[in-house]
Amino acid sequence: MSGQALQYAIGVDLGGTKIELGIVDQTGNILLHQRLDTHVKEGSAAVEAQILESIRYLQQQIDVPIRGVGIGVAGQIDPETGEVLFAPNLKWQNVPLQARMAIALDLPVRVVNDVRAITWGEWLYGAGQGCKDLICIFIGTGIGGGVVSGGRLLTGSSNTLGEIGHMTVDFHGPRCTCGNHGCLEVYAAGWGIAARARDVIEPNGKKNGNRLLLELAGQQMENMTAKIVVQAYRQGDPLAQQILEQAKNALISGVVSIINGFNPQRIILGGGFIDGMPELVEEVNQGVRALALKAATQKLEIVKAKLAKEAGIVGAAAVIFNLLSEQGEKI
Ligand SMILES: [Zn+2]
Repeated sequence: MSGQALQYAIGVDLGGTKIELGIVDQTGNILLHQRLDTHVKEGSAAVEAQILESIRYLQQQIDVPIRGVGIGVAGQIDPETGEVLFAPNLKWQNVPLQARMAIALDLPVRVVNDVRAITWGEWLYGAGQGCKDLICIFIGTGIGGGVVSGGRLLTGSSNTLGEIGHMTVDFHGPRCTCGNHGCLEVYAAGWGIAARARDVIEPNGKKNGNRLLLELAGQQMENMTAKIVVQAYRQGDPLAQQILEQAKNALISGVVSIINGFNPQRIILGGGFIDGMPELVEEVNQGVRALALKAATQKLEIVKAKLAKEAGIVGAAAVIFNLLSEQGEKI
């Protein structure tokens, strides 16, 4: 890119609680960043107005030519139209976000699934740089994934590829939000860890673990979160230890299946749960090497995601840079 002017795009990470957005150059550098609370209760039109207002604000602050806007949304997206088909955290169904934003901004707009945007970000600018076969696994409230194989980000026949959280790791296991039993999320996602803690706590029990977990949750079972379980674990709580041991083993089982099935060169682990327990990356690495097919792990590296919270913004912008390069522009 020497001698060539930098290209700029706006990346938006639209979540159920926060909207993060920024102006990004094609080297992955964020020039300016804004964070807003998502006004979910006010409906999709209000959220769209928030995004538009914030984009216009960013454009006023830095005078660079914006080539397009990439938006990552936690939900199912129509790959042709960029319509948000279903986004439970936003309580959206069939919202034509891409079309409406493109008209309002008079710019190319692309709406993609948020984990797929993060995978773009990690692949191009983060822990996946220079790698053609990688799988990103992001563990937060749920578990999402993105698969790059042979230098292509895979989408699947109906654009849902990457639902790693709903891989069965125990078909006798508890019911998942998707209706199936024993999905990876049931044990290792934020919501699943909180649910497993509620399963083992006796509301009026006197055991040590009960006491600490309940105390940290303010004596309210419904306040239980994965964060609280990790906190209790850090204080040596035996029940929390048991729940997180189960989460780790489920994660190892899932990653072993992914590696045997896809033979990636790199597995990138990220998301809020991994940020809270970074030691899991090495523990999963060791567990996987003991259980996966030897031939599948020869070139394998298991690493932590690099971009943290910025991955969603950078990755959504990268979708636009990719679009430009597909259209034949040298960027
Ligand atoms: Zn499931």
